[in-house]
Amino acid sequence: MKVKIDTDKCIMAGECYYNHPELFRMGRDGFPTVLTDDIGDDKGLLKHANEAIEVCPATAISLED
Ligand code: SF4
Repeated sequence: MKVKIDTDKCIMAGECYYNHPELFRMGRDGFPTVLTDDIGDDKGLLKHANEAIEVCPATAISLED
């Protein structure tokens, strides 16, 4: 599974990198960068990615195969 951020939707609210610094960090342009975009079948990271998806106010985060 891969974590994707749609920068057209992202409003740089920061919840993803504040809550899940193991997956995201703020890039120089203010948009989040995915640190581990291919999380494979790691259940812990998958749980965190799904939490980030739930709290993102712009529905900008998604998981893809
Ligand atoms: S939580 Fe969503 S809107 Fe906020 S910075 Fe992350 S991707 Fe962008």
